[in-house]
Amino acid sequence: MALLVQKYGGTSLAGARRIKRIARKISGKRAEGYDLVVVASAMGHTTDRLIHLARSITPNPDERELASLLSTGEIVSCSLLAMALKALGVPAVSLTGGQAGIRTEHFYTGARIREINPSRILRELSEGKVVIVAGFQGVTEDMDVTTLGRGGSDVTAVALAARLKAERCEIYTDVEGVYTADPRIVPEARRIPEISYEEMLELAVQGAKVMHPRAVELGWIYNIPIVVASSFVEAPGTLIRGEAGMELVKKVRGIAHDLDVAKVTVLGVPDRPGIAAAIFEPLAEANINVDTIVQNVSIDGTTDLTFTVSRDDLRKALGVIEEVVPKIGARGHIHRSDLGKVSIVGAGMQSAPGYAATMFRTLAEEGINIELITTSEIRITCIVHESQVERAVRALHRAFALEREE
Ligand code: ASP
Ligand code: MG
Repeated sequence: MALLVQKYGGTSLAGARRIKRIARKISGKRAEGYDLVVVASAMGHTTDRLIHLARSITPNPDERELASLLSTGEIVSCSLLAMALKALGVPAVSLTGGQAGIRTEHFYTGARIREINPSRILRELSEGKVVIVAGFQGVTEDMDVTTLGRGGSDVTAVALAARLKAERCEIYTDVEGVYTADPRIVPEARRIPEISYEEMLELAVQGAKVMHPRAVELGWIYNIPIVVASSFVEAPGTLIRGEAGMELVKKVRGIAHDLDVAKVTVLGVPDRPGIAAAIFEPLAEANINVDTIVQNVSIDGTTDLTFTVSRDDLRKALGVIEEVVPKIGARGHIHRSDLGKVSIVGAGMQSAPGYAATMFRTLAEEGINIELITTSEIRITCIVHESQVERAVRALHRAFALEREE
């Protein structure tokens, strides 16, 4: 029988009525003859509430205990969903990440999945059960509970789909798919019917919240078709797969933005081999995700080196940098945390010039100052003041006529 992995987001499971609705949806799919593995997120704002609760105990909660605490959110929704299915007469079983065989590296937050031992899931499936797996979590070799980073249930779902060789992975959420821009900012934004892994990965990394970037990356590596659709309305959603409509006329597929950007500049860095490594190795060891990196030209044998991180990681990054500065003989460091970024993404841009110029001209006409620029072959990103991000997104959506059908 064909296997499907489905993932339901927290909004879709917020409350008993919604959980019962999802159980009926699952039961309907099973009646079509599919084997089903279902990944559930924590209900509604549970994870935020648990973080808040932990911080009201102590401002810097112990990471191991925090991971255990947060993992309970997903366990609650899985148990309830399994109960709801059984109440409908559908055989089901809920499993924690550890029970489902999900082994991760030894980081309590933002851990990556090392391997999945699927034997328990396969046994339950062979007994005809719908297997409900708690998203966002795994265990270390010592069976310590770890979490995969905010929004990590997407990663659980695609990783399971890859390991179990599912036909596809369906991500059910509260929006009708991937849009040309965030529809809350740009009302004319359109649903994108199909998009390539590469483009979706760029959009997700640059802030499109609809899917976790590591989930897209896994889908790409293992070639798992991913459908993002609403759990509330019956609509086709967005299909993410290899080479989607590369030759279409529209070169810019979508715009992503992110209001969570902090910038650190290390000043007066000696300009010699090994210095960048001396800065970025300890950041990597602290599991800090560094985004944009810019090194200025050196004038007097020293240079400035700027990088960006998420605001959540800023404090950790500054801790690392404070230790590194004296070690490498840099002059000091400065930081600011009031930045955001806006990106245009499209596979067709690599073979067509002029996109960067149009982007910069559009921002200039809006009076928006660009702090940093980075590009990939299929993306241009501008870092700007956070207060100007939304205006930038609207202007760029208009400039590239994304409201029009392809
Ligand atoms: N519950 C976790 C979060 O809120 C994981 C997820 O929803 O995917 O980030
Ligand atoms: Mg999510």
